[in-house]
Amino acid sequence: MCLSLKKEDLEMLFKALSVFCAHLHVSLCHVADPEWASYTLGVFVCLSCSGLHRNIAQISKVKSILLDPWSSTEVEFMDSVGNNAAKAKYEQIVPAFYYRPTHKDCILLREQWIRAKYERKEFLCVERQEPYSAGYREGFLWKRGRDKGQYLSRKFILSEREGVLKYFNKEPKTIMRINTLNATFQPTKIGTAHGLQITHLKDNSTRNIFVYQEDGKEMVDWFNAIRAARFHYMQVAFPGASTSELLPKLTRNYIKEGYMEKTGPKHTEGFKKRWFTLDDRRLMYFKDPLDAYARGEVFIGSRENSYTTLPGLPPNIQGYHWQFGITIVTPDRKFLLVCETEEDQKDWIAALQTVINRPMLPQEYAVEAYFKHKP
Ligand SMILES: [Zn+2]
Repeated sequence: MCLSLKKEDLEMLFKALSVFCAHLHVSLCHVADPEWASYTLGVFVCLSCSGLHRNIAQISKVKSILLDPWSSTEVEFMDSVGNNAAKAKYEQIVPAFYYRPTHKDCILLREQWIRAKYERKEFLCVERQEPYSAGYREGFLWKRGRDKGQYLSRKFILSEREGVLKYFNKEPKTIMRINTLNATFQPTKIGTAHGLQITHLKDNSTRNIFVYQEDGKEMVDWFNAIRAARFHYMQVAFPGASTSELLPKLTRNYIKEGYMEKTGPKHTEGFKKRWFTLDDRRLMYFKDPLDAYARGEVFIGSRENSYTTLPGLPPNIQGYHWQFGITIVTPDRKFLLVCETEEDQKDWIAALQTVINRPMLPQEYAVEAYFKHKP
């Protein structure tokens, strides 16, 4: 520390330290001990969010609380606001269904949440929430085509009254029922920061579409409109359920995705590399991560119902290129998979265990029965 510090400087430093220490516990996106702050909004944020705040410089100006100089006025302002007061001000009327991202979510969701709160002030005024709360939404999205994988502009309509999301190629092309709809941002897999994977069930099988829009607000509004439609549908379908029971069911991210090798039911077919997705109790595999539907879906039940997963393969069986085996035992058969690395093997087993360790819900027995009698 500089030895020529004056007494006022020291006092200032202690004041800043005591104010910052009093406020610092967790950032707005749930990162512990945030080291950045917006001195125009009075909030403490993590390093990653500080970058997003920098993009809206007309609203938010950020500084490091450790590395940058702070004036006493700025410190007093931080003390007078802080994260709790800012939440009370900017998050007054966030709709229950609206997705509140954390540091685990993609940049688009976090950036649009910051813009919605501070730039557009959407949660101070219900009229500004119309794009996702009106129960009806239409617009154009780029949708990945099935043949060559090129993106084509398609008109989409979400209608709560009809209970559907549909898209058009002149005529309605596909009609997805709101009760089986899911949406999850997949920037890495789709290869664009705004990429959204939308799934629905058709005859109990998962169907995927991949869409994006250049405008980040539009894309996140679509996502929240889907959540709103699912929320309103579920409130009617499950009148006894509380809001906190329904919210986790509106949309879900996948438990785990990645490549593994698999063999067929006889275990002598040879191992092939496939893209696997664990979506709740469905383990699906695809030839290409962006395929419209899975080559196969496996129901993963619970321990009480004789589902288990173990590291390794039966004796005399080996993967093709890879060697870290996983055996999934279901009441009907064993599934043999192989991972590239030991770490991957551990992660997949842990992911499968979270599902197996959870007792099955009554409606999940119906799904299991469907899988058993699948032609
Ligand atoms: Zn953050």
